Formats: sequence, structure tokens, C-alpha cells
Amino acid sequence: MSTQPLTHQLFIDGAFTDGSGSDAFDVISPATGEHVGTVPLPVKADLDAAVAAATTAQRKWAAVNVWERAALCHRVADEIDKRRDELARLQTLEQGKPLAESIADVTEAALLFRVHAEDAVRLYGETLPSRDNTKRMFTFHRAVGVWGIITPWNFPLLMFTEFAAPGLATGNALVVKPPTHTSLTVLKAMECLVAAGVPDGLINILPGDGPFGDALVRHQGIHAIGFIGSSATGAKIQAAAGLKRSIMECSGNGSLVVLADADLDAAAKAAVDGAYPCAGQVCCATERVIVDESVHDAFVEALVRESERVVLGDPFDEKTLLGPLNNEATAAKMDRHMADARERGAQVLVGGQRRTGMPTDLYYEFTVVDDVPVDSLLSREESFGPVVPVITGRDEDDLLRIANDDPLGLQGAVFTRSMTSAFRFIEEMEVGQVVVNESNNWWDVNMPFGGAGARSTGWGRIGGKWTLLDMTDLRTGVISL
Ligand code: NAD
Repeated sequence: MSTQPLTHQLFIDGAFTDGSGSDAFDVISPATGEHVGTVPLPVKADLDAAVAAATTAQRKWAAVNVWERAALCHRVADEIDKRRDELARLQTLEQGKPLAESIADVTEAALLFRVHAEDAVRLYGETLPSRDNTKRMFTFHRAVGVWGIITPWNFPLLMFTEFAAPGLATGNALVVKPPTHTSLTVLKAMECLVAAGVPDGLINILPGDGPFGDALVRHQGIHAIGFIGSSATGAKIQAAAGLKRSIMECSGNGSLVVLADADLDAAAKAAVDGAYPCAGQVCCATERVIVDESVHDAFVEALVRESERVVLGDPFDEKTLLGPLNNEATAAKMDRHMADARERGAQVLVGGQRRTGMPTDLYYEFTVVDDVPVDSLLSREESFGPVVPVITGRDEDDLLRIANDDPLGLQGAVFTRSMTSAFRFIEEMEVGQVVVNESNNWWDVNMPFGGAGARSTGWGRIGGKWTLLDMTDLRTGVISL
């Protein structure tokens, strides 16, 4: 797909603007190598202007009746639906994922605005019994204030929406920093919010790099941080944020465990379904498959068979399931993980390299690797590529031990026909969510999604009323009669 490059602007205080800087960034498509568009790079004065506008707007917005705030969210959803195809094509061009996935992302973004609007009008407080008969105590939820939002490049529109929808619905204001190289979709989506009538200053978009994100986190006018990205960056951000409130949605290294009694065909299908979407660049992707040795051979046979349906190619082609990786750093990480696996004796059964002759050097073949040692990079780190590494364990205890031997803990899956084993994994896997008999690359819009407290995947929950709770303060009122 070829289009004229877009020149997009920053969005500050209700207006698209070039900002006060003189530098600009060219967005290059990972799919085609073409110049998709240019964005101006913001400077400190732009950040100050955005925070000032957000501060003023938030005071007024918090006083607006929640039914009106919800109505705005519904109008935003309608506008996103209207521009679904335009937004999806732009996202695929700058991010690289297949068009069908981008369409699903845009559809889900609209749904998130609706779900959070509906949850916001039911964000009830409580009345509390007091030991003193002359007192009446009650709680209610109040917006925190101005949020600094920092998002990754794997789901440009959805990650923005995961904070923008609950933030708007609960009376907060946002200053958003998407990564520069996938910022065009978010800036385009801002046109939907403008068309829906979002008040000036309530949402501001300033694409930028890490140092600009750091300035946002440290800004005195920012009350709270919403971050989605890697655990390494999350730790830096929290160190800079001090006592500022935060939601931290960080890295995953998701295990899919195949017990001896599993439906092996279903497990193999789920392992493949968990690894190829968005070229494996999904926080809850299937990053490791841990299989009982008694069913290893039959499972691997089914896995190789399943992998044949993953067509690598042009993300605008309907037949394509696997598009390019988004950037060279991610492709280089895949190269590194695969070289390490080979050195340690792992068996590459399918793929295992970049495909040559494509429009860019970012097309990585769908890959299945067997006999992966637990201390290899493929096992120890989030690979963020289209790969299914297979690790073998002795029995149920051993499989659970291997799954939990991981510093990260976002989402896991287990395949079993035993209710007892299913419950054991639900209760004992060190992750935020456990999926039984389905890929761990699965979520829903009203399901609380986030990391286990004892792991380095962050805290807070994305999804449903839980994000509303995380983006509000619990205020208590006491009345003496
Ligand atoms: P990243 O950590 O490199 O960057 C994320 C964002 O942080 C970017 O906008 C970046 O510019 C910004 N940033 C970098 N350094 C910063 C600093 N010092 N201060 C402030 N901001 C800074 O992550 P990425 O490569 O963009 O995204 C991939 C990661 O995101 C993966 O680890 C993936 O698992 C994770 N992720 C998690 C979830 C979730 O819900 N848990 C969802 C999507 C992605």
C-alpha cells in the first residue's frame, strides 16, 4: 500500500501545533520501508504548555457530571468506529502488523471507550458503620488529576486508549507520550476525540523519546504516571516518579504449560496462536511452552503441523498472518536469542531466521525451537518475536516449577483435562492471570489484566472497573450529626 506521507502535528490544549522546537521525526514503515509521515519533536516549552492546559482542563472536567463524561466517551467510540479503516491502515503502515489485527485493535479501542463509560456511571462508593452513633461515614471515588501517560509501539492505538478511556470517564486529564515512530495513529485518533467534542486541554499528545518521557515523569504538574512498556524502563520511571501514583504494565515471558493429560492438538494450536499475532510483539504472547516429557513427541509433531498455516508476508495481504517485526532492535534481539539457543544445542524445527528478498529486513520467519535449555535467552528473557520455544519437564510439579522460575509474571496458560490440575495452576502460577485450555495470548476488555505482585511485571490493572479504581482516589467523608 502506498500513500502520500502525512505531516502530522503535536496536539496541545485543543489544537494541532508544530510546537516550539525545530526538529522533526520521519516515520518509516517496517512493512514497506516507505516514508509514512513526519512529526515535529516537542521541547520542554511544549511539555509545560501541555501540563498547564491539562491542569486547567482537569479542574473543570472533574466537576462535570459523570453521565456527561460517559456520553463523551460514547461519542468518541462512534467517531473511532466511523474512521476504523483509515486508522487501521495507518497503524499497519507504521507498526507493521497485519491489517486484520489493526482492524481488531481499532474495534476494541472503540469498545473500550464504551465499556469504561458504562463502568464509570456505576463506580459506587460505600457507607460504613461507625462506632459513634453521631457519625456517618462514606466513601466515593475522585479523579487523581493530571496523568503522564507513556506507551509502547506494539499496540499504538489500544495502549493509548487503555488510559485515555478510563481517564476521561473518571474526570482525569492526560499528557500522553507515544513512541515517536508509532505516533501517527494516536495523533490521527485524536481527530476522533476532537470530533466528539473533548474539551480543550484534557488530552495532549506529545510523541517523544526516552529522555522526553523522563521529563514528563518528573514534571511537577504531573500527579500520576500510567506506563506500558518494558520492565527495565518501568523501573527507571518509578525511580524518577518518587511518590507519584503509578500504574505499571510491563514485560511478560508467558508460559504455556502442556500437562500429560492435555488435548495436544488444542495445545499446539494455542501455542501457535499465542506466538504469531503482532509478530510475537505482545506482552502476553506465548514466550515459552513447557511440556510433559511423556507427551513431548506427539505435541511437537502437532506443533510443527500447526505452524505451517502461519503465512509470512505483506501485512496488507489478506492471506498474511505474520507481518514484519516493528524495528531493528527487536529483530536483532531475535537474532541474538536464536544464536544463543543454537549454541546451547537447541533444535530449530521451523524457521529461525529473517527472510530475505522482502521489502525490509524485518520479516522474521515463524520459528519453532525444541530442546530449549531453561538457562537460554529464549527461556530467560522476553524474546518479543514470532517464536515457540519448547522446554521439557518431568511431571506436573516440575512443569510448574519451571514456569515459576522466571522474574516476570504477567499471564500464563495451562492445558489439562483435570479440574484439580487446572485449579492448582490457577492458584499457584506466579502471574496476574491464568488461562486454562486456551492460548495465554488472550484477554477481554473487562478483565483485569496486569502483573503478579511478587514479580517484576509492574502493578495496577488494565481492564474494566479496575482501571477506573486505579485512576481514582478513594475519598472518605465523615459527617458529625
Ligand atoms: P520501552 O520500555 O522501550 O518503551 C516504552 C515507552 O517508554 C516508550 O514510549 C519509550 O519512549 C518510553 N521510555 C523509554 N525510556 C524512558 C524513560 N527513561 N523515561 C520515560 N519514558 C521512557 O518498551 P517498548 O519496547 O516500547 O515496548 C515493549 C515492552 O512493552 C515489552 O516488554 C512488552 O511486554 C511491554 N508491554 C507490556 C504490556 C502490558 O500490558 N503489561 C502491554 C504492551 C507492551
